[in-house]
Amino acid sequence: MSKLFVISGSSGVGKGTIINKLMTKHPELKLSVSCTTRAKRDGEQEGVNYFYLKRDEFENCVKNNEFLEWAEFSGNYYGTKKMFVETCLKLGQYLILEIDTKGALNVKRIMPEAVLIFIAPPSIEELEHRLRGRNTETEEAIQKRLASIKLEIENSKKFDYKIINDTVDNAVMKLEEIISANI
Ligand code: 5GP
Repeated sequence: MSKLFVISGSSGVGKGTIINKLMTKHPELKLSVSCTTRAKRDGEQEGVNYFYLKRDEFENCVKNNEFLEWAEFSGNYYGTKKMFVETCLKLGQYLILEIDTKGALNVKRIMPEAVLIFIAPPSIEELEHRLRGRNTETEEAIQKRLASIKLEIENSKKFDYKIINDTVDNAVMKLEEIISANI
């Protein structure tokens, strides 16, 4: 039995779409809001998608031990505040964390009841295609993200579940099955 579900997947794998659909269908689930130092993308909102911090602000939170986990990813910091997770769990909410695989494994070490789910692309070529199609990043940034894929796939071997994102509906259905089997 768990109240904490951690979902990871390589960038561009479509996990944002999958998670949005899951959250719309299940208002009883709560999506954790992480902190990041990366720039806000079009349409993103402070406190909804992320809490946007300057590098020194983020580093101060690290020094003060405020993060449950944090990682540097593609040159930016990302982290989950302990306080955010503790408050949600105290309120009895089912919490979804959408973080990278390294962060997910760190969460599992601290909170072994967390259920780790990896969303994999049907193929690496397909993933590269989606990443470029998004058109939000420079070639250099895309190359960095592609380079991290291998590591993500390696880390995901230690996850509890793996979902191949063939179609969004299928992936959402599998996520629902995993969640209901573990709550
Ligand atoms: P993006 O910049 O596309 O929003 O996210 C890039 C990566 O950072 C994704 O793999 C996402 O899962 C991860 N990420 C987002 N928030 C966190 C967090 O709080 N901690 C960690 N470790 N990774 C995060």
